[in-house]
Amino acid sequence: MTDVVVEATDVVVQFGPTRALDGFSCALKRGTTGVLGPNGAGKSTFLKVLLGLVAPNAGSVVTLGVDSRSGPVVRKRVGFMPERDCHIPGLSALETVALCGELAGLDTALAFRRAHETLTYVALGEVRYRPVDGFSTGLRQRVKLAAALVHDPDLLVLDEPTNGLDPAGREEFLELVRRVAREGVSVLLSTHLLPDVEATCSDAIVVGRGRALRHGTVADLKRGSDAMRRVEVDGDYGGFVAALKARGATLSVDALAGFLLVGLPQGADNALILAAASESRTGIRRLSRADRSLEEVFLEAVGLPASGGPHAGS
Ligand code: ADP
Repeated sequence: MTDVVVEATDVVVQFGPTRALDGFSCALKRGTTGVLGPNGAGKSTFLKVLLGLVAPNAGSVVTLGVDSRSGPVVRKRVGFMPERDCHIPGLSALETVALCGELAGLDTALAFRRAHETLTYVALGEVRYRPVDGFSTGLRQRVKLAAALVHDPDLLVLDEPTNGLDPAGREEFLELVRRVAREGVSVLLSTHLLPDVEATCSDAIVVGRGRALRHGTVADLKRGSDAMRRVEVDGDYGGFVAALKARGATLSVDALAGFLLVGLPQGADNALILAAASESRTGIRRLSRADRSLEEVFLEAVGLPASGGPHAGS
């Protein structure tokens, strides 16, 4: 089985005058991938194309080896949790989830059996006979998750699943998602909440202006360039900065956070920093590669100014 679950190639989607996707290409691997992007970036349109709900004007999306334009074939193997509530008034949690199972192609008996199982899985077993209308946001989100899992999909697509949840509810929900992923289901998590991606996903894709702007493992995306170092020193660093500059290094100082960010000239390594410290009689407390936060990666990719300083890596 191939390692790629979703392969998008030069996808264009035009809604009247708006080009929602404009040459969107990516190859998403099995596992957990966060889809990040500002409002209007094209995230939802991408999800709709991969689910076969929107036909692209050009290009193609192959999901689990099947061209998404074949619609229902794909949806039988993909579970989708939409952002908006979509339950039918008056139906219990059990009836709601079973109905989704039937819509995904299960016969009635199997749909009800799986609905019991998935509601227990998301810890809603005790309230399964109650109407969804009276549920809190947290419980409704779990009903939607059960509905997306009822037909035992290979790929779970979540659109802003933690919207409206309090911190504890968010953490509980993300733990459920991690559990689903551990059991071998690939997960695509579309969100504007970067911490949700950091807490749940091994990979991330940054979407902007209808394109996939960055894609990789979260660790690789955050990794600073090989030439950047984060240095913490004891006491005054004036002489140290001068000695570094004399050796061709570039500097930025985060006086508030108490560290220097040193860009090494080509071919140089930590020895340059140690030599500058020795010359200026400066004690180095900590020297590490400078990683960026996922937020900085995101802001840089979509072309917005970063608000804070760089984050430490080790
Ligand atoms: P995101 O999910 O990243 O917020 P969307 O995919 O919803 O972005 O939207 C991308 C762009 O396409 C936006 O400019 C949005 O207004 C537009 N768009 C999305 N769906 C439609 C539609 N059905 N009709 C017209 N324009 C749309």
